[in-house]
Amino acid sequence: MDQHTRLDVILGKRIAGSLEKNLGLLTIADLLENFPRRYLQRGEFSEISSLPFDEDVTILARVISSSTRTMRARRGTITDVVISDSDEGGPVLSSVKISFFNGFNARQKLQPGVLALFSGRVGSYGGHLTLTNPDFILLDEAVTTAADAAAMAKLPIPVYSATAKLTSWTVQRAVAMVLDQADTDHWFDPIPEWLRTRERLPGLSQAYRMIHQPTSVEQCYWARKRFRYQEALVLQTALARRRAETAQEVATSRPGVLDGALTAFDAQLPFTLTAGQRRVGEELSRELATSHPMNRLLQGDVGSGKTLVALRAMLQVIDSGGQAALLAPTEVLAAQHAESIRRTLGTLTRDGLLGPGDGPSVSVTLLTGSLPTAARRQALLDAASGDADIVVGTHALLSDNVTFFDLGLVVVDEQHRFGVEQRDVLRSKADAPPHLLVMTATPIPRTVAMTVFGDLETSVLDELPDGRSPITTHVVGLVENPRWEARLWQRAREEADAGRQVYIVCPKIGEGDSLADDDGGEALALFGAPAGGDGGAQELTGVVGMLEALRAEAALQGVRVEALHGRMPPEDKSRTMAAFAAGEVDVLVSTTVIEVGVDVPNATLMVILDADRFGISQLHQLRGRVGRGRLPGTCLLVTRLEPDHPSRERLAAVAATTDGFELSQEDLKLRREGDILGARQSGGRSTLKLLRVIQDEDVIALAREDAQELVAEDPGLEGHPALRMAIENYLNPEKEAFLERG
Ligand code: ADP
Ligand code: MG
Repeated sequence: MDQHTRLDVILGKRIAGSLEKNLGLLTIADLLENFPRRYLQRGEFSEISSLPFDEDVTILARVISSSTRTMRARRGTITDVVISDSDEGGPVLSSVKISFFNGFNARQKLQPGVLALFSGRVGSYGGHLTLTNPDFILLDEAVTTAADAAAMAKLPIPVYSATAKLTSWTVQRAVAMVLDQADTDHWFDPIPEWLRTRERLPGLSQAYRMIHQPTSVEQCYWARKRFRYQEALVLQTALARRRAETAQEVATSRPGVLDGALTAFDAQLPFTLTAGQRRVGEELSRELATSHPMNRLLQGDVGSGKTLVALRAMLQVIDSGGQAALLAPTEVLAAQHAESIRRTLGTLTRDGLLGPGDGPSVSVTLLTGSLPTAARRQALLDAASGDADIVVGTHALLSDNVTFFDLGLVVVDEQHRFGVEQRDVLRSKADAPPHLLVMTATPIPRTVAMTVFGDLETSVLDELPDGRSPITTHVVGLVENPRWEARLWQRAREEADAGRQVYIVCPKIGEGDSLADDDGGEALALFGAPAGGDGGAQELTGVVGMLEALRAEAALQGVRVEALHGRMPPEDKSRTMAAFAAGEVDVLVSTTVIEVGVDVPNATLMVILDADRFGISQLHQLRGRVGRGRLPGTCLLVTRLEPDHPSRERLAAVAATTDGFELSQEDLKLRREGDILGARQSGGRSTLKLLRVIQDEDVIALAREDAQELVAEDPGLEGHPALRMAIENYLNPEKEAFLERG
């Protein structure tokens, strides 16, 4: 039986169906790679006082008492069992009461003193902790592999992710049956022998047994170490192959010219480049001049001047006869980018009316889905004919009917909104693959860069241009400072009176809406908002209601207040944004549509309402919209949560530092990797199992080197069929299709 054998062949329809439905497991390899989440050990009780409320748990506990009564209303009995984590004879500190309806089995087996595993959802009833949908298994039944009692006492008990429908021990039994019947000794090992020997890792078959049926804690560790390395190796080999493929590609060299648009642009620049901009600029310039496609990720905190670096690269390409495309995550941003590029180019902009003048000139075209038909047709034509040097747009640029005359460079702003596939589509729009520059303001730790963006080289802008004003951030807790609610609008008024502008950010658009991920529908934030649900039942502040309230607000009479959100018609959005940029609007009430890139130097105050609903990096991005000019910026994080609510830690963290890198580390600590490596980010749909992007930096770095070596020697992985298969399995989004081929 090989890896792809369906589970029902061994387990029968019922159990196999349940494994598929509850855990998404189809094949025996799926089941064997569904590793225990943790292990329990005899004598190590689960701490009952710290059980997570409203979650499914599997715990090891001792029965303290058991009693059965007859129900009055209908026929049947209730068996109440009290379990505890305290040792035999010791004082009972915390306990859980479980009620079984007609629980014949429970009544028989759960005698006082007995040790058992219990599973269910943690709840409370009548002031007592309870488990709903309870299920249990006696400890001695759970551990079936030990030969004798002495060995059994030391056996770690695997605990799998479980639900009310599928207990941990059902999974454990299924695994045992598969291990008995599948001949895993004959399976090919994805880790090549020499690497396994060098790293002293157990072989595949042995490791399956050790991770699922360990006879000691050491075995668990050893097996987990192996699978962690395996995971890193599969991922890194996939990336190394991708890199090897791109290295084969031939791109058009775009060396630029001495007296072209770039030179003219630099001469008219009103400021000097930062050292980082110069360094990265040279890096890009060199790579654009080669006949290999550049594949580069440019990281830099909000306001570090990435767009300027990108623009200079575009000019070099244009000077070499090519076109450049800039992709922005939203229409608002695309329009803003086009506008600010035209402004930055100044007299170098060719506006179509003047025709070709003496010196170099550059034409900038906006191409978005919401352009009026005639304008859109013209933009398409300009892109196709080469009249447009720079084409700015959203993912609409990816649609089939957009063609370029000679696309030399693709710049993607805010990488985390675009997946690998979308990058590929754009790159396929040129005869030779264009050079690619991806910009992100979210600082990405090294290992994440190696994992998620492993096929890109990285450049960093690590300083802000001189003369940037500092941003001060305060947490405004309305519970402890109710008077601040009125004070907020007073503060907004003061800014407006001083001729400055204010952003007010709300977590959603209108009443009845859920949390808005409001940026035109293409949202997939690398560091998005945390899962909601911790703010209690309070109605969240919405843009629509807030606009009304502020217009009626006494303190804001005579102040021009407008709203901006993703459900507005695109023309209205652009008009409002332009009016705000021009200073014709004092206060802009909006959702996170303004999160990235929007640049209004005169905006000095940002009020974020229900700020606890946003993630750390999102808050950091948002506040980067103020303090962009000479004037210092202030950001107020308004919350209605109690001072000791855990979500307020995030707010405190954001208020404590403006260092984006520090914050992103903090952010990673607070969230699970699964959220970071969404399917589209990692290039496949799988998320990581054992590998932890931050903690396992060493493993990832090691696997990256090994993968590089493997691929260099054997690009097709002909000598490593199991590794090749593991990669396909990992990358293949349609597992079903894969199964049919396999
Ligand atoms: P980012 O895209 O990294 O957030 P931008 O490229 O939009 O940053 O730059 C933010 C602002 O700083 C823009 O108004 C830009 O013109 C300005 N800027 C860029 N580089 C410099 C520099 N070296 N000195 C002064 N201002 C700069
Ligand atoms: Mg930017």
